[in-house]
Amino acid sequence: MTFQVFSIEWLNEHHIGLLYLIELPFWIKLFISVALYDITAYWIHRGTHVIPLLWRFHRVHHSDTSMDASTVFRFHPFELILVFGMGNILTAALFGTDVLSMAVYYLFLYVFFFFEHANLTYPKWLNSTIGLIFVMPDHHRVHHQQDQYYTDSNYADIFIVWDRIFGTFKTMPAQKNKYGLMEFDEDKKQTFLFLIKSPFLNIKRITIDGEKGISRNKKTPLEQQNSDN
Ligand SMILES: [Zn+2]
Ligand SMILES: [Zn+2]
Repeated sequence: MTFQVFSIEWLNEHHIGLLYLIELPFWIKLFISVALYDITAYWIHRGTHVIPLLWRFHRVHHSDTSMDASTVFRFHPFELILVFGMGNILTAALFGTDVLSMAVYYLFLYVFFFFEHANLTYPKWLNSTIGLIFVMPDHHRVHHQQDQYYTDSNYADIFIVWDRIFGTFKTMPAQKNKYGLMEFDEDKKQTFLFLIKSPFLNIKRITIDGEKGISRNKKTPLEQQNSDN
């Protein structure tokens, strides 16, 4: 965190980034900056799903077989420090966002993190109203499915609009959820020690139809069943 703050302050002192090219009212600049941190996080999160080295660390977050607010704490420390931290510095380098807007971004980010991982029920009409713009628990539940067709979707943390714009938004039938990763679905692979060392182990990705690694374009068994009915 200290490294992030120092790096961003250095970039700001040297007026690096696109926002230094335009004059904007304080609140508009703050809102845009929070959105820019979030859009970078979206692309980095998407990257952690497709770049095998980054997936090794990110899969720790996905390995949780039951999803609730405690899943927020299940991140490999390397991912928190390297991937998240670098993302914010990258945002500041590209766009000229400052430390204050990063603090506001984190404030909202943590509220959303707990909210979207929480095991709560809420009126479904919220998905089709505020859920058009913001990430809702139902969106992030799709992201934590074992089926990789769904795992590789809904990457956004605060604004679900990024998934809608960049074509990664998915919903799923309200049938039974199966959270986690098949390759971690054993008690001995759910221990703290195993998860910490797991990025350095060769663990093959297993998807629901036994295919390895890549996303599928064909329908999932759940969707097939749905369209057959
Ligand atoms: Zn993910
Ligand atoms: Zn999550």
